[in-house]
Amino acid sequence: MTTALDVLEHVFGYQAFRSPQADIIDTLRTGDDALVIMPTGGGKSLCYQIPALLREGTAVVISPLIALMEDQVKALQELGVKAGYLNSSLELQQVRDIESALQRGELDLLYIAPERLIQERSLNLLKNIRIALFAIDEAHCVSQWGHDFRADYLKLSLLQENFPDVPRIALTATADERTRHEIIQRLGLQQAKQFISGFDRPNIQYRIQQKQNARKQVLKFLREEQQGHAGIIYCLSRKKVEQTAEWLNREGYTALAYHAGMPAQTRQQNQARFLRDDNIIMVATIAFGMGIDKPDVRFVIHMDMPKSIEAYYQETGRAGRDGDKSTVLLLYGLEDVVKLKQMMQQSEGSEEFKRSEAQKLNAMLGLCEITACRRKALLHYFNDHLKEDCGNCDNCLQPPETYDATEDVNKALSCVYRCGQNFGAVHIIDVLRGSENEKVRQFRHNQLSTYGIGKDLSVNEWRSIFRQLVAQGFLEVDLHYGSLRLNENCRPLLRGEQSLSLRKDVVLAKGDGSSRASKALRESYGDLREEDQAFWAALRKCRRDIAEAHGVPPYVIFHDAALREMLEKRPNSKEEMLLVNGVGDRKLEQYGEAFLAVIAEYDAALG
Ligand code: ADP
Ligand code: ZN
Repeated sequence: MTTALDVLEHVFGYQAFRSPQADIIDTLRTGDDALVIMPTGGGKSLCYQIPALLREGTAVVISPLIALMEDQVKALQELGVKAGYLNSSLELQQVRDIESALQRGELDLLYIAPERLIQERSLNLLKNIRIALFAIDEAHCVSQWGHDFRADYLKLSLLQENFPDVPRIALTATADERTRHEIIQRLGLQQAKQFISGFDRPNIQYRIQQKQNARKQVLKFLREEQQGHAGIIYCLSRKKVEQTAEWLNREGYTALAYHAGMPAQTRQQNQARFLRDDNIIMVATIAFGMGIDKPDVRFVIHMDMPKSIEAYYQETGRAGRDGDKSTVLLLYGLEDVVKLKQMMQQSEGSEEFKRSEAQKLNAMLGLCEITACRRKALLHYFNDHLKEDCGNCDNCLQPPETYDATEDVNKALSCVYRCGQNFGAVHIIDVLRGSENEKVRQFRHNQLSTYGIGKDLSVNEWRSIFRQLVAQGFLEVDLHYGSLRLNENCRPLLRGEQSLSLRKDVVLAKGDGSSRASKALRESYGDLREEDQAFWAALRKCRRDIAEAHGVPPYVIFHDAALREMLEKRPNSKEEMLLVNGVGDRKLEQYGEAFLAVIAEYDAALG
């Protein structure tokens, strides 16, 4: 008898199951139902793909992500698995071919869109074949309260009625209790065994920095860490999206733009190219992302602050779906808070809605300002609790310095007060630093007692202080004009009865002080050694060439993690190659030699 582990090794090329996988597979294999909640990149697919191969008949996978079906099926075919799909993108003849393959019992897996599954024709077809199991992917689509609701998902209760003996598995990454409850109710999974993993995405490294010179910060990050990788850069406005993409192209990167104001066709083309290639930077507004499931997105940069932690988590979550190391970088400033608050104020919505939006924004700002582990705080926000610090966020890797800022804070607050609480941070900082500009003179702020008392700090240092004062609720930002106002609770600070310590933001590298620091971050993350760069590029080229020949995206051939393992272990025989995670029998046979040749060449050169 073939075991699940045999299939894992020989077909998928992996050595061991991740924690709940083996149990889930066993549950289905013995004919029971399962509900699986596992974060993105956790390894949900194997939970139904392996039982599909172990049980007799065809496994039917229901998924709303039509754009991905073809690639999912091709990826299985590359592994030697017999798979097909049915959705609205197929020609009639292709549909007939798949249907007859099904009738002949030739398919191990069939991917199908929900709207097609519920058609009479499909149901009749399925009733006449042997079905191994039903997998309902993205099961949260059944939730009427979520953003991804699909009415067709509600009809999936018919599976239970029409196929009472076929085991069903529902899978999603959406972990909240309400959604889970809805899935169980609507899909009739009361008997299902539940497998619930946390929210965490351990392969994503979180970094949040003060915006100093945003372009310089982005460039530094790309040059030092992400050369040639695919990633997403989010900007708040369409104009900024376009300008940023143009700028990156001038800097020698391949960047494409994506926002709702572009012609649909251009948008589609850009998206398709981003999915196909492994080195494109997509610069986009948040309109980009729904249904994007590119597994090898290595980084996500936010050039503006997202409006909530929910949005931040969802957008950063597009990195590293293949489970491989990925980095997300957020650049934020006080001006973002002002802009977002103004947008909220102008939006149509009840006062209650606006209040809740404002609270969410404050929580986001809080996450930016904390000096403790980011991941802990993030997960805590979603009621998921991490016991230890994560060791894989900027605050863990490079703990921020704090200093006693009582005196500076006092100057800052006094200056806000003296200026009549009618000006934004830019002007207040000008006054503190003794600027002689027009506006300062016009309002005679050069005659205030606080004029010029803050010359010892740079503009960026003052900005950091004001931001932290807003984040901690000592100052409020006026919704209409962005001016700063004192809050009741800053009295003890003004009277000198309370001291306050603030974080010292890392100042952008002029000399090498902070370069050294960021090197610590990078190296903890397995930065590529210089002598390996050409080797890495050659492995990627080999993958790209094969991918092109097979008409699939590069990640379908091998994930980045497999290539990196080849780089580290330098296998020099087929036996050794098989030990690399992601190299199974079929892939070894098909393109093992091509990669072995590349490795042999560099192995000799590198010694
Ligand atoms: P999800 O659907 O949960 O987002 P996937 O099923 O796409 O995640 O799996 C994420 C990545 O992890 C894929 O590259 C997959 O091949 C890999 N993976 C899954 N299970 C294992 C395992 N047991 N060992 C090694 N890699 C695995
Ligand atoms: Zn951490």
